[in-house]
Amino acid sequence: MNRRTFIGTAAAGMAAAGGLPQMLHAAEMETAKFVLPSLPWAPNALEPFISEKTVGFHYGKHHKGYVDKTNKLIQNTSYQSMPLPEIIRKSAGKPQDQNIFNNAAQVWNHAFFWHSMKPGGGGKPGGKIAEGVRIAFGDYDAFRERFIATATGRFGSGWAWLVERNGLLAILSTPNAENPVALGLKPLLALDVWEHAYYLDYQNRREDFAKTWLDNLVNWEFAEKNLSQMNPAEKVV
Ligand code: MN
Repeated sequence: MNRRTFIGTAAAGMAAAGGLPQMLHAAEMETAKFVLPSLPWAPNALEPFISEKTVGFHYGKHHKGYVDKTNKLIQNTSYQSMPLPEIIRKSAGKPQDQNIFNNAAQVWNHAFFWHSMKPGGGGKPGGKIAEGVRIAFGDYDAFRERFIATATGRFGSGWAWLVERNGLLAILSTPNAENPVALGLKPLLALDVWEHAYYLDYQNRREDFAKTWLDNLVNWEFAEKNLSQMNPAEKVV
């Protein structure tokens, strides 16, 4: 077993155990700083809601592309030795580092997104998230309506998020690669609303995609776990 095989196996093991895949520091890899983390489920496991074909392109081409570009862009820069969340925070808002920010944030966003959904997910949350939804939105239906409207209302490419802000749950939409890590907010869930996330399955019907995602795929246990942690953003990659 070579080093890369071993690392891949270790990451898959962690995902199976309910942990998050880890990205590795340059000191542990000869050729690449960050590696594409394993998916937490089989590529066809989200069917019929998200097809294997969509997962194949989205993970195998888009997410992988962001990982490869990040590794290339940070070579011989001050970002080279930083963990991913630090790269995101330090490059955010710096025009000269926009390309590094975009790619690094998209690496993080996608890793977080895969864990934000699961086969057999969806429906109403329990636990502290249910309590937080009641406090912030009144009831689950009001939350659901607002989340769908936020995801649908983002013009162009971007993300819809559930975050914790000042002790309260909040729904947030960001353009392009921007994310709660750069904004200093605690991320709980991510929904990718770039067209590449849904176009093969839903074409222009982003609202149907957002509804389907909430009703059938959202991973409330992941949100609950993130809520209970001090810095969930650091654990993803
Ligand atoms: Mn995407």
